[in-house]
Amino acid sequence: MHTALQFLKDRFAEIDDLRRAGSVLHWDMSTYMPQDGTASRGRMIATVEKVAHEKLIDPAVAALLETASGMPDAMLSTDDQAFLRLARRQFTRASKIPSAFKAEFLQHMAETYDVWIHARKANDFNAVAPFLEKAVRYSQAISDFFNSGETAWVHPMDPHIEDADPGMTTTGLKTLFADLRQDLVPLVRELSSRTRPRTDFLSRVYPKSRQLEFLNWLAQSIGYDFNRGRQDLTHHPFMTKLGAGDVRITTRVDETNLCDGIFSTIHESGHAFYELGLSPSLDGTILGHGTSAGIHESQSRLWENLVGRSREFWIYFYPHLQAHFSDTLQDVSLDEFYHGINCVEPSLIRTDADEVTYNLHVMIRFDIESQLLDGSLKVRNLPGIWNDRYESDLGVRPPSDSQGCLQDVHWYYGSIGGMFQGYTIGNLFSAQCYDAALKAHPEIPKAMAHGNFSVLHSWLKENIYQHGSSFFPQELIRRVTGQDLSSQPFLGYLKRKYL
Ligand code: ZN
Repeated sequence: MHTALQFLKDRFAEIDDLRRAGSVLHWDMSTYMPQDGTASRGRMIATVEKVAHEKLIDPAVAALLETASGMPDAMLSTDDQAFLRLARRQFTRASKIPSAFKAEFLQHMAETYDVWIHARKANDFNAVAPFLEKAVRYSQAISDFFNSGETAWVHPMDPHIEDADPGMTTTGLKTLFADLRQDLVPLVRELSSRTRPRTDFLSRVYPKSRQLEFLNWLAQSIGYDFNRGRQDLTHHPFMTKLGAGDVRITTRVDETNLCDGIFSTIHESGHAFYELGLSPSLDGTILGHGTSAGIHESQSRLWENLVGRSREFWIYFYPHLQAHFSDTLQDVSLDEFYHGINCVEPSLIRTDADEVTYNLHVMIRFDIESQLLDGSLKVRNLPGIWNDRYESDLGVRPPSDSQGCLQDVHWYYGSIGGMFQGYTIGNLFSAQCYDAALKAHPEIPKAMAHGNFSVLHSWLKENIYQHGSSFFPQELIRRVTGQDLSSQPFLGYLKRKYL
């Protein structure tokens, strides 16, 4: 039986290696690949994913899992038990989707991505609409594959959510989000009626190379280890893990938008801290990754917002920033800077949104995805619904689809459904998690004002990072906070800070 377990570990380690090879291809595609390389890269990625998928759904894996499940828990270490649980879950879920279907869908996604790039530039939703319709049909077919036995669902979005955020459902999240929206909408209304702080200095000219120097220094100063990673430029910043000693971040620099680079870098560093803080014993195993999309996002948002938009953070960093851009920030005080980077204003683009309005953007997409999947919304009506929702929820109407339903890459490179809830789960848990850290160590903000993050890093490592995927999200949330996921700590944080 121990041999069966060892075979399984070896097999899943191979699968993990293939996935990481796929990540190298993705990283290169998004950073340095020439633009005309898209088609062949799409094929390469599809091939690697296909091989990994076949290795996973191999009948030999089913037999080994069967044998290993005969082992009594007493014979297994805690890591082995967690490994078997996750291996079984990955096998069961992957076996539901035929390899040929998966390859076809991956190819379709690559084509859609290409069309979307041009459609967004040309503000031409009709060009990408047929591709999106097909993506909806593929996504519905995926739901159907899961609608039997132990993976039967209530809403067709459930299996997509389960994939990214195990244990969460469409119905459960709708309740959680309704609770959040109830307090958020009036809060946004009240805050946007206030006098707008000064923000002119954020759109002055900050040369690209000077910004990059600062961003690399900033990442290092908050604890990102350049011996185990690197930072490169891209359009849509992301973090990727290629190994325990190679966790890369990307950022984007806009010469007339100082916040873009700074908060992208802090955000992706937060993702990287999670992966870099994993217990070495989990390296190279399927447990050696963050446990879900939402928990991952909670760690990036914790650093980006709770830490990176706090006054204490800038007490330390603002003099450095001011010295680095001495010609440009001379006339801006710390207080003006702090209020400027925390300006609350309803806007059109999710990734530029402040931390108060951000979740309204996410909830619009969450509702739309669920309607596309259950058939209550047709793709051709998407732009209209999108614009109406922006007007009713945020009070702004997109003047073009490029700034509306074409703005996000998500639906144009991936399945429809299960993509957005993680952002709001992340925001909610970031506040819950930070509350728990402050309860244990009230001195964290004071240390931050001296550029010292060691206590926060150790607490996060001990409570979250080291466990990798050993716990499912809700188990981890309960372990860390003693409670279930809730919108109240997040709302409490916003009210304390902004009111
Ligand atoms: Zn993120």
